[in-house]
Amino acid sequence: MKHGEADVLIVGAGVAGLAAAHALMQHGKEVIVLEARERVGGRLLRHAIAPDCWIDLGGQWLGPTQERAYALAQRLQLTLFPTYTEGESLVYFGGQARRYAGTIPKLGILPLLDFGSAIAKLDKMAHQVPLDAPWKAPLAACWDSMTFASWIEQSLRTRVGRWGLKLFSEAVFAAEPFEFSLLHALFYIHSGGGVERLSNTRGGAQQDRFAEGAQSLALRLAEPLGARVQLNQPVRQIRQHRESVSATTQSGAIYTARAVIVAVPPTLAGRIEYDPPLPPARDQLTQRLPNGSVIKCFAVYDRPFWRDYGLNGFVTSDLEPLHLVFDNSPPDGSCGILLGFMEGASARRMSAAGFEARRAATLQCLTRYFGERAAQPELYIDHDWSAETWSRGCYGAHFPPGAWTQFGHALRQPIGRIFWAGTETATRWMGYINGAIESGERAAQEVIEIL
Ligand SMILES: Cc1cc2nc3c(=O)[nH]c(=O)nc-3n(C[C@H](O)[C@H](O)[C@H](O)COP(=O)(O)OP(=O)(O)OC[C@H]3O[C@@H](n4cnc5c(N)ncnc54)[C@H](O)[C@@H]3O)c2cc1C
Repeated sequence: MKHGEADVLIVGAGVAGLAAAHALMQHGKEVIVLEARERVGGRLLRHAIAPDCWIDLGGQWLGPTQERAYALAQRLQLTLFPTYTEGESLVYFGGQARRYAGTIPKLGILPLLDFGSAIAKLDKMAHQVPLDAPWKAPLAACWDSMTFASWIEQSLRTRVGRWGLKLFSEAVFAAEPFEFSLLHALFYIHSGGGVERLSNTRGGAQQDRFAEGAQSLALRLAEPLGARVQLNQPVRQIRQHRESVSATTQSGAIYTARAVIVAVPPTLAGRIEYDPPLPPARDQLTQRLPNGSVIKCFAVYDRPFWRDYGLNGFVTSDLEPLHLVFDNSPPDGSCGILLGFMEGASARRMSAAGFEARRAATLQCLTRYFGERAAQPELYIDHDWSAETWSRGCYGAHFPPGAWTQFGHALRQPIGRIFWAGTETATRWMGYINGAIESGERAAQEVIEIL
């Protein structure tokens, strides 16, 4: 049995846990970070397809107003470059592909007015949701009693308009609109700065990428921590004592400290055993926050051939199962990479279907969008986040009806010596890298105050 002692234990070496560790070290506190996986980064995972040519199997983009993430990237001397947006995008709807410039697809004036007015309403309602206490919104009870799908059904008149918001739901939450409450949709929209900010590439959350892969944020944060980061140490139990707290890992190792920060997704925090047990509100909260379902699919070509046709690689589509595609080529365009997303119900179906079926379905979709050349990539790779034991789905957790108003107050509330971090506990850019950093720094501050 191995023992370790520090001022503060941190469970989880994702960006949130590592940001907390840094903040604590800066205040002279000793930390031990216990990580279940054999690597740091959690939902950030890079993969080399050639020497120094990375793809991100997990989170990858930064966008305007994500100041904490940009500041950290700069401090760690990471290189950002813009997502490729030159040329026209494609919308594939009802069996037909249409090209368009800018951000508004050509799908008829009525659907566009319908969709535009729905976005304006959502943005306006979202502003009434307090980011630190969504359950205090004036209409919280009403908004939390219906799903986002019910609101879409009531508020939009056209099939295309409704499809647009279903796509928004998949792209932003990796979930179907019937899976989370209207209040959660509004909180999230406010947290990310509006529907357009969340959806757009240029000027939005998909604007910039990391040349070294986004996981390098975590790798570089972990470097100076050295042996303070203990890999392959899934925490199974957290026990609070009168003057201390201890964490027992799967191997039976026991670590003690004066406080612990749990920086893992809520559903995984709920799988740890607590002694004494957590108050009912906290436990019931974690019973209610499922993660979304997403599979990232990459097709690698010798060059970005779609650019020759004046296309930027961006596709929105109703064709199963790939509803969203981006040009994910390296900054120098030395090879061409198309990144397709399977999300929500499509991800669940294709997770069960297996790798070969996903490969075939991805290439079929890409061929419809970009022609026969897309059928023959040099390489196909995908990553199913629902199958990851230490993530159990992505991008993050969503709140079904009732969760925010009945249990939201327990999300960040420390319990004795236990403090909560992780992107799901953030107020701004919840679900994103920026939110994870905010949460880690906030939890570190809370601990510093009590120590
Ligand atoms: C496919 C995908 C695409 C995404 N795209 C973007 C994007 O483009 N931009 C963006 O900003 N965000 C994106 N995200 C979200 C972003 O990656 C996350 O918000 C962020 O990485 C979360 O960090 P975290 O530290 O809060 O949680 P995590 O990264 O989940 O870290 C938690 C850590 O805790 C560990 N752990 C879990 N349970 C235990 C335990 N019991 N004991 C010890 N360790 C444990 C896990 O292994 C993990 O390392 C995406 C995510 C995915 C998966």
